[in-house]
Order: sequence, then structure tokens, then C-alpha cells
Amino acid sequence: MHSGQEDILARVKHCLPEFAGGSVWLCGAGAGDAGLLTLLAANAIAQADCIFYDALIDAGCLALARADAALCCVGKRGGRASVSQAEINAALTGAARAGKKVLRLKGGDPFVFGRGGEEALALAQAGIAFRIIPGITAALAAASYAGIPLSQRGMSQSFAFITACDESGQLPHNINWPALAQGAEVLVFYMAARQIKALAETLLQAGRGADEPVAFVINAGLANQRVVITGLGQAAETAKAEVLASPAIIIVGEVVNLHAQLDWFAAAAPKTKERN
Ligand code: SAH
Repeated sequence: MHSGQEDILARVKHCLPEFAGGSVWLCGAGAGDAGLLTLLAANAIAQADCIFYDALIDAGCLALARADAALCCVGKRGGRASVSQAEINAALTGAARAGKKVLRLKGGDPFVFGRGGEEALALAQAGIAFRIIPGITAALAAASYAGIPLSQRGMSQSFAFITACDESGQLPHNINWPALAQGAEVLVFYMAARQIKALAETLLQAGRGADEPVAFVINAGLANQRVVITGLGQAAETAKAEVLASPAIIIVGEVVNLHAQLDWFAAAAPKTKERN
């Protein structure tokens, strides 16, 4: 630890809440980099008796847990559930009823494509006290770590966050794609890596340009982050050629061009290696 970093939580303790037994905190851990944890999230992890966490949670986040805390991975990857949503809801409710300080630690933000709302509803219906702790969602983490400002004067005054995957694993068909395509200058897609062909075709039909820049931001905020830039017309081919891994965020819009000048992450990486 660098000097001055010790006991950060102790120094801000007066403005952090105490975790009461019998309650559940639904908490976002931020996406990718464990350093994106908020003070509220770190405070929650440090106090929890049991932590039910997602597959994408970085080990660095869990390192803040008490040595005697029970850690339980209930993650889903690629739409495959290891534990069903009903089982997760039952586990949260059961642990709270047993008087535990129960932490549900989710990637990014709990209310952004994370089923946090469903879990909160289950707790509300069971009469269990809960708190929601926001987190830095993958779209924001990916944009910052790729050096792609989502709003930029003269280029973008609006952006939309969209899931490219519905419950059946397909591109959602109940979205009004032409309205969406024309309604926001920048479009940011979650869970889109496997849908890119259908997504690109749908956006082109909905009126977006074939030469519009597209960024794939893979493993945003992690040491193995990759940013691949292409055009909407070639996006599916690029994705195939680059064998894109997940998790990935896809950003569509003119602001993607700023990546070439603002790619601080790639610029910083070799220096970090030299130092170690
Ligand atoms: N609640 C989460 C989203 C869960 S859905 C949030 O607010 O971020 C899972 C999707 O998030 C992935 O399919 C991917 O699109 C995105 N994602 C999560 N972590 C990511 C990362 N480190 N880099 C790129 N995309 C990520």
C-alpha cells in the first residue's frame, strides 16, 4: 500500500452506514477494475457476514471481506445460470431471516441489466430491510477506460444504454429500433458480443450509417482490456476475425473516433510494467 492509503475506511467511518443483522444490501461492485468500488461498497464488503457474488466480481473486491465471512458465487455467465434467480432470492431471504448481514454483490450497478430490481422486489415482498448501493456500470467504465467520452460538445448530446440480449438470448424485438437509432447520438450495448451480426443489420436498417465508428471494449478496466475499432458495416466481420471474447461493451457513434487520441490505458500499460 502507498503511504496515506492505510485505513481509508476508518478515516471516513463517520459517513458510512452500519450494516444491521437481518438486512440485505444490494450492492454494485463496479465493472472490471476492483478500484471502481465505492466507499459504500467497500464498507459493505468489510462488514458482511455472507456475500452472494456474481461471476464477474474481481477477486480484489472480495479481498476486503472479513476472514470469517461466508462467500458464495451465484454468478451467471453467457446467460447460463449456475443458480436460478428464485434460488438466489430464497438464499438472500433465508440468510437475512437468520439474522445475518447479507451482501448481494453484483457487477457494475445493481439496477442496470443486473436483475437488482427483481431481487429488491423479492426482499420488499418478504418484508426484509434492504439498501441499494449503486456501482459504476460497465458502459461508463468501458467508455472511460477506452478513452471514449459518451458526451462531447459538437458530437454527442445524448446516449442510450441498451441490452442486446433478451431472456431468450436474442436481440430484443420489442425495442423500437428506428426510434432508438435516431433518438440518441451514441448507442452503448451490453451483452452484445454474440448478437453483433443481428445488431449491426438492425441498426443499419434503422438508419445508422455503415461507416459509423464502432468500438468493442473487451474486459474493460482489467489488465487484459482490448479495444477494437471498426465501422458498423464491417462490425460482424471484425468481431469474427478478432474472435471477440466476452464480457464486452459495444459503443456506436462519432465519439468512438476520440479513442485514437484519448487511449490513456494503453499508453499507461507499458509504464506500469516497467515499474514492476
Ligand atoms: N449490472 C452490470 C451489467 C450486467 S450484464 C453493470 O451495470 O455493468 C453483463 C454485461 O455487462 C456483459 O455482457 C458486458 O456487456 C458488460 N460488462 C460487464 N463487465 C464488463 C467489462 N469488464 N468489460 C466490458 N463489458 C463488461
